[in-house]
Amino acid sequence: MEKDFHEEYIDCFICGARGTLRIAYRYMNLPVEGEAILLSLRCSSCGYQATDIYPLRESREKFIKIKINSEKDLNKLVYVSSGSRVLIPELKLELELKQIDKGFVTTVEGILERFKEKTEYVCTQENVSSECAELLCSLEKAIRGELKFSLIIEDPFGRSSVF
Ligand SMILES: [Zn+2]
Repeated sequence: MEKDFHEEYIDCFICGARGTLRIAYRYMNLPVEGEAILLSLRCSSCGYQATDIYPLRESREKFIKIKINSEKDLNKLVYVSSGSRVLIPELKLELELKQIDKGFVTTVEGILERFKEKTEYVCTQENVSSECAELLCSLEKAIRGELKFSLIIEDPFGRSSVF
């Protein structure tokens, strides 16, 4: 276990105290993110604390495209990692996860529900066209499994996946 853990003390960049900031790195194997480093900082002088996780898995761009043909396909599990874009080209829908957003695991239906919520919100605004109602109607059809479409995930870090 020793090689999976490393710590050192440096001068605190918050309060300036000498050698009071402890930096600990711990290697972990997370179920979804794979190998990662957990970094934790703590200053014994000012009490500053922080933790962060850095995935180590090769970060190669990944392009996932699945066809949804029936109600059964709506139950497919999808992990959408932070920084990814989710697209349904047939409905001209797009969802972007910022890098600071947390990734999430959901079903294809869960993604459709997210799009539906977003569309419903947009449709309550003023000056909406009839396209809005049409889109909602198509989304409801898709949620009932009555619409064939493709789901695309573009992930610049390659961590998203379909299970
Ligand atoms: Zn400090």
